[in-house]
Amino acid sequence: MNHHVKDATILIVDDVPNNIRILGKMLDSFTIRYATNGADALKLAFEDPPDLVLLDAMMPEMDGFTVCALLRDDHRTCDIPVIIITAITELEAETRGFAAGAVDFLTKPVHPPTVRARVNAHLTLKKQRDELRKANQELQTEIQRRRILEEKLREQAEFDLLTGLPNRSLFVDRLGQSILMAQRNHMLFALLFIDLDRFKWVNDTLGHDAGDTLLIDVSRRLEREIRKSDTVARLGGDEFTVILNHLFHESMAELVARKILEQLNVPFLLKEQSVTISGSIGIALYPSDGIDVDQLTQHADAAMYQSKKSGRNMVQFFSAEINRKTSERLQMEGELRRALANNELYLDYQPKIKTSTGHLTGMEALVRWNHPGRGVLFPIHFVKFAEHCGLIFQLGAWVLRTACQEAAKWTNNGLGGLKLAVNLSALQLQNGTRLIELVKECIAESGMLPHQLELEITESMMLNDAKMAADILMQLHEMGISITLDDFGTGHSSLALLRTLPVQTIKIDRSFVTDLKAQSYNANFIGAIISMARNLNLDVVVEGIESAEQLNIMKDCGGDEVQGFYFSPPLGKNSFQDLLDGQLPLGGGLDIPS
Ligand code: C2E
Ligand code: MG
Ligand code: MG
Repeated sequence: MNHHVKDATILIVDDVPNNIRILGKMLDSFTIRYATNGADALKLAFEDPPDLVLLDAMMPEMDGFTVCALLRDDHRTCDIPVIIITAITELEAETRGFAAGAVDFLTKPVHPPTVRARVNAHLTLKKQRDELRKANQELQTEIQRRRILEEKLREQAEFDLLTGLPNRSLFVDRLGQSILMAQRNHMLFALLFIDLDRFKWVNDTLGHDAGDTLLIDVSRRLEREIRKSDTVARLGGDEFTVILNHLFHESMAELVARKILEQLNVPFLLKEQSVTISGSIGIALYPSDGIDVDQLTQHADAAMYQSKKSGRNMVQFFSAEINRKTSERLQMEGELRRALANNELYLDYQPKIKTSTGHLTGMEALVRWNHPGRGVLFPIHFVKFAEHCGLIFQLGAWVLRTACQEAAKWTNNGLGGLKLAVNLSALQLQNGTRLIELVKECIAESGMLPHQLELEITESMMLNDAKMAADILMQLHEMGISITLDDFGTGHSSLALLRTLPVQTIKIDRSFVTDLKAQSYNANFIGAIISMARNLNLDVVVEGIESAEQLNIMKDCGGDEVQGFYFSPPLGKNSFQDLLDGQLPLGGGLDIPS
């Protein structure tokens, strides 16, 4: 009905045809339709609503006021402006007309300019009203659309898309409510932090689809273990939380936690494979372990961390002891971060010697931390820690980059035969693509050749995911880098690993050398390993040689290379340079630190 005023249709109703003709002439720029009685007028108007009606007031059978009222009453015609034409006294007609819903009046005899002016005015008004209504309708639709969208967004903002569980923000909200409720009712409640123990393994070996399925299945099992009034949420990754409201005794929290662990121990079916996992749970109680959201979550998290550390598949309540350990851990983490940023780390290099000639063959880079408050710290004090808190990647990258840069001077200045050995954490192998990129970068930056680099990995840590580790090591090996299995003999699967990993050298652990005596068990052991290695075409390094006696026994056994305080302790890079320059002798001439 978005007619231009000019195209408008006007319905003229009058019982006297001549009146219709006169009016029609005055309005000949419009489309005119007409009726000579009320009934016909209504019929026409309902079938095809006009834009305006000119209505004679006085008609037999049905008068104009009645017609007008009926038009107003019908939804098809209620908005059409009606102008009533009357000959009777104006006052009375106007009152009745307005009551019936007319918009205007004309009195007979009609004056053409007035008729045209009124008609135009009302058509324009109606057009504007129609447009306004249409705009308003569009606005309403838009508002409705936005409301639906908003609702959806709110849901996404509060629920985890994968599992449908409340997410972190809704969890925080619910925890706040639980605190208020418990406060009011003087009740106890518990917050559980749950972490899956083998999630990463599932993701890495069975793929992300399997990982997703596992998370969904775990969510359903968790929901089964709790009451409707409790909350299970997913904070992200494989971290879940449970709020157990209204506890009568704290032992109830442990009971539920144990049931959850049992449920997690039931095998999951992933990719048609039965997979067994476990979880670690930490519990914080309101009000004894915390009275606000931050305290409770931090403490439940700390308890969970402790639970994971003390073996898997465990439940651990928060305690003052955990609190102390946690703050120590956090402090240490901060310090290590700062150490990486402030260059507090440095490398020592320990010479490696060829047994048959007594010549230097290379050096092993060993990291140290010059801690501003505690003096020089050795790897035993921070490498494991770096692995736990995830800083090992940064640390490992720093070591590799620095070692390559520093050693490039030696290996490229006519000492091309020297090899630089760098220790790797097995965690770095789990992030294999990153490691390979890093190695490429370090080699390119320093100008070293790949075959001058040797990477040492410890067997004990390879057990987690030997297949993936083998893959990464193979790629490194194909680049020309040699791989050494460090601390050989201390792990559980040395032989199995030798079969699956592309290893060129094994390094017999220091512990077998410590009280090495001819004809002793350890001497036999080293002898056996060396002859086995011969058969497998592997080189053998023996580390921790501290005396001439140990060296001689080692020689008898046939080891290829040795490393130990007898020749040299790890040296700072300047001392190592002196050694190369012949200023520092190798061997028994050095003090042996105890
Ligand atoms: P490792 O790779 O077996 O390194 C040899 C360790 O034995 C070094 O200890 C070295 O100082 C010590 N050592 C060498 N000769 C003798 C000896 O004759 N007698 C005795 N008693 N000890 C000797 P350090 O530097 O404390 O390193 C300990 C371990 O920390 C290393 O064992 C290695 O597994 C790890 N590590 C060192 N640097 C790094 C690193 O940059 N990254 C990683 N991931 N681990 C590192
Ligand atoms: Mg080593
Ligand atoms: Mg070792």
